[in-house]
Amino acid sequence: MSVSIALFTQDLRLHDNPVLRAALADADEVVPLFVLDDGVAATGFAVPNRSAFLAGCLADLDAGLRSRGGRLVLRRGPVVAETARLAAATGAVSVHVAAGVSGFAQRRESALREAIGDRLRVHDAVLTALAPGAVTPAGKDHYAVFTPYLRAWRAAQRRHPVAAPRTVRVPDDVPDGPLPQARPDSPGLPEGGESAGRARWTAWQVGEYEEVHDDLAGDGTSRLSPYLHFGCLSAAELVALAERRGGPGAEAFVRQLVWRDFHHQVLAARPAAAHRDYRPHDDHWHRDEAELAAWKAGRTGYPIVDAGMRQLAHEGWMHNRARLLTASFLAKTLYLDWRAGAAHFLSLLVDGDVANNQLNWQWVAGTGTDTRPNRVLNPLTQAKRFDPDGAYVRRWVPELAHVPGAAVHRPWLLAERPDYPAPLVGLDTGRFQQGRGR
Ligand code: FAD
Repeated sequence: MSVSIALFTQDLRLHDNPVLRAALADADEVVPLFVLDDGVAATGFAVPNRSAFLAGCLADLDAGLRSRGGRLVLRRGPVVAETARLAAATGAVSVHVAAGVSGFAQRRESALREAIGDRLRVHDAVLTALAPGAVTPAGKDHYAVFTPYLRAWRAAQRRHPVAAPRTVRVPDDVPDGPLPQARPDSPGLPEGGESAGRARWTAWQVGEYEEVHDDLAGDGTSRLSPYLHFGCLSAAELVALAERRGGPGAEAFVRQLVWRDFHHQVLAARPAAAHRDYRPHDDHWHRDEAELAAWKAGRTGYPIVDAGMRQLAHEGWMHNRARLLTASFLAKTLYLDWRAGAAHFLSLLVDGDVANNQLNWQWVAGTGTDTRPNRVLNPLTQAKRFDPDGAYVRRWVPELAHVPGAAVHRPWLLAERPDYPAPLVGLDTGRFQQGRGR
C-alpha cells in the first residue's frame, strides 16, 4: 500500500481542499496530519482565543474525516521534524502542503524541501482565491495599490473549487495523537470548524451586504473571518458561491475577499512588512504607556472608540468599521506606534492574521498601501455616520447604556455626568502632523 501525507496548516477543511485531494490521488492511503508547533507559540501567535478556536477546528476536521472512514493524525513538536519523521516511518511517496505567505510559512516550506526533497508538493491558491504573484504589474513582484490589483484579479484565471472527498483511508498503524483543548480569553468567542463556518455562510444574507456592512449596530457582515483565517472555509469557494448568487451585495462581498488576497500578496512579497513600515515615513511616534493602556482597556473617553475595544475583549472580534476608527485613534490621534496597536489586536482577535492585521494597521497608520496616508478618522464624525443613533455604543459601554440617542457619543456634554472617563486627548492635538514633520 502506498502512503502520502496531507500536511494541514491554514486549510482546515474537507471541501475545496486541493492539498487533501492531491494527497488522496497520489497514494492508496493518506495521513491527514496537523502538527501543533511550539515554534508558533514562541512567535506569540498562539494566543488563548485562537488556540481555543483552533481546537474546535481540529475536532471538527477529525469528525469530518472519521465520517469518511479516516481520522486526523496530530503531532506536537517542530512541524518540519515531525513531518519528516512521519514521512520516513510511513515511507510516504509524497507530502502535500499549501503555499503560505508569512515569513514563518516561507521558512517552513524551504525547511520541508530540505528535509523531504522532491517528495514535497506545494499547492498554490489554497489559502487565497488567487495565488500571490499570479498577477503582477510590469516589472514588479506585487501590487502596491488596491484598485489596479482588483482589476487584474478580476481578469485573471482562477482555479475551480474541488469537491470534498467521499472516503479517506488512513494507515492503521499510525497513532492519532490527542486533540488539543484550550480556554479562550473572550467569553463570546464563536465556535471553530468547517461545519460551523458553512452553517454561518448558509444562515447569513450576502444579498444585504452592500447596504448594511458599515452599520456598526446592524452587525450585518458575514463574520466569516476566523473561518477564512484557519481555512475552515475556502476563499475560492466563497467567491464562486457569491458570484453564482450575483447582485450588488455579493459583488461587494467578493471585493472584500479581494482585499484579503491583496494583503496576502503584499506580505508574500514583503514578509518584513509584518513588523516594519512598508513605506518608510519619518515617523517619531509619541510614547505614552498610560494612553496605550487606556486605549486597550476601552477607556479613552470617546465612546465609539471604547465600544470597539470592548467588543474586541468580549468577542475576540471587532466590526471592520470599529477596527478602522480604533486603529486610526491610536495611530493618528494619539500618534502611538501602530505596532503596539497591532500587537494588542493580535493578542485577542480570533481572526488575527499576519497579512490582514499588520497590513490593515499599516494602511490606517499611513505607512502602508493607502494612497491617502494622511487621512485621519475623526471619532465623532465616524460615530455620526456609522452609529447615528448610538445603539452600538450602548451595547458595549454599559456605563452609557441609559443615555438615549446620539447624545451617547458626547458624554462630556451631559447635564448629569456618568461614571465614565473624560476624553483622553482633544481631537485637535495635531500630534500626527507634527510627528510627520509636515
Ligand atoms: P466581511 O465584511 O463579511 O468580509 C468578508 C471577508 O473579507 C472577511 O471575513 C475577510 O476575510 C475579508 N476582508 C474584509 N475586509 C477586509 C480587509 N480590509 N482586509 C482584508 N480582508 C478583508 N481581518 C482579518 O481577517 N484578520 C485580522 O487580523 C484583521 N485585522 C484588521 C486590523 C485593522 C486595523 C483593520 C482596519 C482591519 C482588519 N481586518 C482583519 C480586516 C477586516 O476588519 C476583517 O476581515 C472583518 O472585519 C472581518 O469581519 P467579517 O468576516 O464579518 O467581514
